[in-house]
Amino acid sequence: MSAIYSLDALKFDNSFYNQLPADPVINNNSRHVNAACYSKVNPMPFPKASLVAYSRDMALELGLNPMECMTQRFTEIFSGTLLLKGMQPFAACYGGHQFGNWAGQLGDGRAINLGEVISKKGQRWALQLKGSGPTPYSRHADGFAVLRSSIREFLCSEAMHHLRVPTTRALSLLRTGTQVERDMFYNGQSKMEPGAVVCRVAPSFIRFGNFELFTSRNQTDITKQLLDYTIEHFFQHLGKPSKEVYIQWFNEICLSTARLITEWMRVGFVHGVMNTDNMSILGLTIDYGPYGWLEDYDPHWTPNTTDAGGRRYAYAKQPEIAQWNLLQLANAIYPLIEDAQALESALENYKKVYDIAWRDMMSSKLGLNTFTQASDEVLFQDLVRNLKNTETDMTLFFRHLSELEINMNTNVDQLLSMIKPAFYVEEIAADEADNIKTWLSQYVERLKSDGKTDEARRQQMNSVNPLYVLRNYLAQEAIEQAEAGSYTMIHELQEVLKNPYEEQVGKERFAEKRPDWAKQKAGASMLSCSS
Ligand code: AMP
Ligand code: MG
Repeated sequence: MSAIYSLDALKFDNSFYNQLPADPVINNNSRHVNAACYSKVNPMPFPKASLVAYSRDMALELGLNPMECMTQRFTEIFSGTLLLKGMQPFAACYGGHQFGNWAGQLGDGRAINLGEVISKKGQRWALQLKGSGPTPYSRHADGFAVLRSSIREFLCSEAMHHLRVPTTRALSLLRTGTQVERDMFYNGQSKMEPGAVVCRVAPSFIRFGNFELFTSRNQTDITKQLLDYTIEHFFQHLGKPSKEVYIQWFNEICLSTARLITEWMRVGFVHGVMNTDNMSILGLTIDYGPYGWLEDYDPHWTPNTTDAGGRRYAYAKQPEIAQWNLLQLANAIYPLIEDAQALESALENYKKVYDIAWRDMMSSKLGLNTFTQASDEVLFQDLVRNLKNTETDMTLFFRHLSELEINMNTNVDQLLSMIKPAFYVEEIAADEADNIKTWLSQYVERLKSDGKTDEARRQQMNSVNPLYVLRNYLAQEAIEQAEAGSYTMIHELQEVLKNPYEEQVGKERFAEKRPDWAKQKAGASMLSCSS
């Protein structure tokens, strides 16, 4: 094993730790932490930890030989049992708006940052363990994570990366060898579950809530310090910090957030807990909790049982909620700018940019060259209505749609039969079938005016419409098998989800519609925040 690709060759440059104010108090009790961006805290050692899975791609990205991931030393390091030279562990202090209300100090309650690696390509990668024991921000909770939620985070964050959705990554998933008590349904019926630790990786884990907290405490000097730090390391192209640069920075956050949400909408991802502490300053999907994938296309669906009443975080609400979250970030940096107009116009621009990005995204999903207002506005609206009215699997619908041959003399019954496998109902009601047929004939006419060959269109559509996503029930099956001691399905899903747009022989079962048994099953269609 070449020494330059070994664990010991990882180079650390801990900018967050070295440049931002630290909490002077060194004790690990849950507490209010004043005027500090982080608290020094060591991960809890788990001497009985064992490897469940690792990401070969992420290892290579860090400049690590993937073989290293199979060593005992790797397990010791990424379970938090052993620290590498250069690691300086800490938990970050941040606040946030949860479900629309200011929640005050939150912070890394069960995440411990190990340090920032500078890869051989010069990329900064912060390594963070999730589930590695209590920190001063654990409040009333234990600082641990259970295997089921860790499997979901590990698999989904890597899957999102391969779908080309901006996201935090995951290097490893380990079982801690200890048990954690959880009341999964918040009904007083706690049980012991296996504990796990995921090593998450991102250029930075800074959230909207990091900025909000200091401004809420009238410590805008720290807000400024944090913002200058963020610009220096992650927005160098903006130049030396100034009021103008802060405004430009906020504009960029609005744009990257618009792009993020468009990508979620494209693949049918519902985050489930879009609180401002779960919004990345780099426009990454962060904090995989009770997220879910749209199976039947229901714009009002939320996977999160805690959100079932208000449906604040439902699929179709995500663009609007992101804008609300951006407004909270704008409020947090306002004292540094004092130009409400500039921030308001950035927020309005978010909406405009998102609307354009959504149309372009829908155009590409439908295989169209460009969005044409006159025809496509209505075409898209009718499509969304039809998908909603007849229970339709979003992922399969777009894949089957790409198979249409527009010179089939446009027999609508034939067209309908081609997309039929995407419907959850056996027989579609007559009036709904008529609506779909009308839509299909309009769509075919529109494709004709677009002038692409069937093959070119199919290729384009299949490059933006995934065939394999981490369906809720598949994740649940992998979890149940892992809890029973087998990690085969985790590894198989990991491999399949690396090429989500390509049909893979022998992997048909991972592209199937949700089975009936999964419709109302906990974990497969409804998830709680308990993790
Ligand atoms: P979330 O909504 O999962 O992003 O979590 C909100 C806050 O609760 C964050 O500050 C987390 O660090 C904290 N938190 C969640 N679960 C735990 C846990 N088991 N132990 C300690 N803190 C937790
Ligand atoms: Mg969170």
